[in-house]
Amino acid sequence: MPHIDSYYANTLVAKTDFAPLSGNIEVDVCVIGGGLAGLTTARELLKHGKSVALLEGNKIGWGASGRNGGFVSDGYAEGILNLEKKLGVAHAKALFDISREGTAYVRQNIEGFAANGQLPQQNWLNLVRHDAGDKLKQSVEKLSTVYGANYQFWPTEQVRAQLKTTRYFQGLEDKSAFHIHPLNYCIALAKDIDQNGGQICERSEARAIHKHDGHFKIETAGGMVKAGQVVLCGSAYMHDLFPKIESAVLPVATYVVTTKRMKEQLASAISFKGCISDNRRAGDYYRLIEDGDRLLWGGRITTQKSEPRALSGLLRRDIEAIYPQLAGLEIDKAWSGLMGYCTHKMPVLAELEPGIWTATATGGHGLNTTAAIGIVAAEAIAGKSDRYKHFAPFKAQWAGGPVGRLATQFAYWGMQIQDYWDER
Ligand SMILES: Cc1cc2nc3c(=O)[nH]c(=O)nc-3n(C[C@H](O)[C@H](O)[C@H](O)COP(=O)(O)OP(=O)(O)OC[C@H]3O[C@@H](n4cnc5c(N)ncnc54)[C@H](O)[C@@H]3O)c2cc1C
Repeated sequence: MPHIDSYYANTLVAKTDFAPLSGNIEVDVCVIGGGLAGLTTARELLKHGKSVALLEGNKIGWGASGRNGGFVSDGYAEGILNLEKKLGVAHAKALFDISREGTAYVRQNIEGFAANGQLPQQNWLNLVRHDAGDKLKQSVEKLSTVYGANYQFWPTEQVRAQLKTTRYFQGLEDKSAFHIHPLNYCIALAKDIDQNGGQICERSEARAIHKHDGHFKIETAGGMVKAGQVVLCGSAYMHDLFPKIESAVLPVATYVVTTKRMKEQLASAISFKGCISDNRRAGDYYRLIEDGDRLLWGGRITTQKSEPRALSGLLRRDIEAIYPQLAGLEIDKAWSGLMGYCTHKMPVLAELEPGIWTATATGGHGLNTTAAIGIVAAEAIAGKSDRYKHFAPFKAQWAGGPVGRLATQFAYWGMQIQDYWDER
């Protein structure tokens, strides 16, 4: 399938077409899935001297990686203080440092070989929608001193000087965050892999993995890859290939819209140029794009796989509820995507059985974590480090099938009610 009709697909700077797999090839490692997790793993494996084939069922960046909000920041979908409670400070800090490596990797790339089509803006302001008093300030101090996070506390007056709405109170500014054009970044990674001898095959769904003595044969419609090792990076879009990981990854849908050009109206509401979000469980996330001409706005989550018919109307109303001065705004593009979540909200980076690895389930915090787990997975497969063991507590556990999906949906609704009460 082609890329969905999104703002990103319409502003691609380099159109690429990698031929489907045809016939039989042999490589050290076969990576399945051409999102950021698969692309980073493949690129890093090449650097370690491995020969690599990457199979993508649709187009490079077709899944969540080419559709997301574009916010890159340290950390994981699970909060670092929750990780600390479960694992202790030292382990939580080791994981946080790996996540920071992912952020730095993306930054280095978009300032280097992947700069084309990027207009990165710095920093991320995460806001509370009820008066949190000193609570946020205390978290900022702890995360900065213990974890070395580059966070700064914003009092309510400072927030409201930049964002003309009474809906927000205090904020946390993350100074190592930035935003990118994620689809342009995916394509740049793919081109880099191609130029460095990796074989990328689009429209090449992996249909079956056959185990043989000491190697695997991965079957597609047009041919077969013989590989010593396999890495599964299909996230929420992988079906009927490897049930153990598919049953652990819950597909969670979220939505994004971009507005038509409205520079003056936007300037009257939003001065902050970086990423903006609120800290509700299913909060809004947004940013100005094209030098303040348009607004890119994301929000809402659901475990129902179908897309709501009135997607743009829903998000338009969400925007107007925060910024009434933007009433009457027109939506240009609206789209949705699936994030892969495990119940522990952490990525799964593991050797599921000898020779079959996975680096997946980065949830709604994938732009740095796909890079982080890609780097660490490649090191592990190349025998260069055992840092993947930091992720050992986060297993590919069965997420409960349709019942688990329903339970998660109820949990989200419960959290939304909690958010509502916090604001009251
Ligand atoms: C709307 C939206 C907004 C988001 N916003 C942000 C954000 O602002 N910041 C952030 O950090 N994270 C965000 N995320 C999360 C982030 O995008 C994901 O965590 C990340 O992109 C996941 O990357 P991935 O490579 O694991 O999976 P994907 O990008 O989903 O890629 C999986 C790929 O595997 C392919 N595939 C599946 N099965 C097979 C098979 N059998 N054979 C071949 N190919 C196969 C699919 O076609 C797909 O292209 C958002 C996600 C969404 C959906």
